[in-house]
Amino acid sequence: MSEAEIRELVVIGGGPGGYPAAFYAADLGMDVTLIDTEAKPGGVCLYRGCIPSKTLLHAAAVLQEAKAAEAFGLAFGEAKMDVDRLRAWKQAVVDKLTGGLGQLAQARKIRTVQGRARFEDAATVVVAKASGGEERIRFKAAILATGSEPVRLPGAPDSPRVMDSTGALALEDIPARLLVVGGGYIGLELGQAYAAFGSRVSVVEMLPQLMSGADPELAAPLLARLGGQFEAIRVKTRVLGMEATDTQVTVRLADEAGNECSETYDRVLVSVGRRPNTRGLGLEQTRVQLDDRGFVVTDAQRRTGEPSIFAVGDIAGQPMLAHKATHEGKVAVEAIAGRKAAFAPQAIPAVVFTYPEMAWTGLSEREAREKGFEITVARFPWGASGRAATLGGGDGLTKLIAEKTTGRVLGLGITGPGAGELIAEGTLAIEMGAVAEDLALAIHAHPTLSETVMEAAEGISGHPTHLFRRS
Ligand code: FAD
Repeated sequence: MSEAEIRELVVIGGGPGGYPAAFYAADLGMDVTLIDTEAKPGGVCLYRGCIPSKTLLHAAAVLQEAKAAEAFGLAFGEAKMDVDRLRAWKQAVVDKLTGGLGQLAQARKIRTVQGRARFEDAATVVVAKASGGEERIRFKAAILATGSEPVRLPGAPDSPRVMDSTGALALEDIPARLLVVGGGYIGLELGQAYAAFGSRVSVVEMLPQLMSGADPELAAPLLARLGGQFEAIRVKTRVLGMEATDTQVTVRLADEAGNECSETYDRVLVSVGRRPNTRGLGLEQTRVQLDDRGFVVTDAQRRTGEPSIFAVGDIAGQPMLAHKATHEGKVAVEAIAGRKAAFAPQAIPAVVFTYPEMAWTGLSEREAREKGFEITVARFPWGASGRAATLGGGDGLTKLIAEKTTGRVLGLGITGPGAGELIAEGTLAIEMGAVAEDLALAIHAHPTLSETVMEAAEGISGHPTHLFRRS
């Protein structure tokens, strides 16, 4: 092992928590070493998550748009899919973005080390290098950003036919029948992509509804659409066991009354959650603590119980989202640089990139009531939006939650095409302490879907032009 050099900052994990932290620290003049199992930064998000999934979902959305266009006289005939080219295109997108990050790291003079790191003590990491051998690095501060991995279903066979999200994104083929186990956003996004590519998709969920964490009103248009796209949606249903052959998987299911049945699929996608990557890191050599769900315990600066070690991203708690990881990474760097910084967002947006999209930010109606706020809720159905009509859809919804006495915006939820882009206005409004009237009085371009946010705000503070309520 080579002699240990003392580095100012070591970042372990090059995902959306780790690489922006490394980049920012280098911009602030720190001497930074970034360690990741891959040669280039990107993490799960770029290699096995956000980016490859959205690439496939874009292809799926094009297919669905093309089908929907028949309603206004455009017929393209039967779509032909070249799975090899689709896979290659997805890979090209991943390569372009991770390659770009590699160049940005180099330009910032960040030392990148490919390998797996573990703590030897509170000031030393040992890296088992991908090229062979070990390297010991001493540090003044470390940021731990090792992310998360898919939870395995107990008893699921070790078979390529039983996939996690990484396996599904590999797009080996388009199975004739696919079972998605788990009705959260990852399962629904990937299930919908495979359905658009031609698979007959079923989904099984233990809880009483799909997307159980989301506002049911916002989820309704998506669930209605999925009802037509998926072969079967089974809620309150458990997977009892699975048996795989070379070509198929037989799954035993039980409903809430205990009625059992067996179904056979060509592939199964298990998406029942993710767990923080804290194993094998040598945390026991430090004072880093885990909570009862396995997340690293941190303070508002993302400092762990070991003052020299910070933790950000999926290992530091919910929501496990890329943009939350990035924000935390920057807070940790500011704290290391001695600046006053704290992770204290008023709103963290969440987007489900299904067709239609769903997005929310700030408090949901239920959360606002649970927190004891007296609230006004305004809904603007997209059936009343001119832009939605020109796009051929009217089943979207914009829902604004405001504090009753002050009109302060507390939350925004949107379902419909482009919801993921539109939600930023709500996050900004909440962070700026805006009242609904601010959104209502800001001129929104016509005809755009952003007008639905303005009209929802008018529903709280005034009179929405395109809705009529008898007083
Ligand atoms: P990660 O991105 O998980 O990166 C951690 C990195 O650390 C990895 O490269 C890992 O190999 C490396 N590592 C682990 N252990 C070690 C070690 N001991 N030594 C060195 N390196 C190590 N989020 C969104 O916001 N929007 C989305 O649309 C979205 N879509 C998703 C779709 C899918 C299919 C999946 C699986 C996830 C999606 N996510 C999405 C979640 C998002 O990917 C994560 O929240 C995000 O990647 C977390 O970032 P991170 O920096 O904490 O860790």
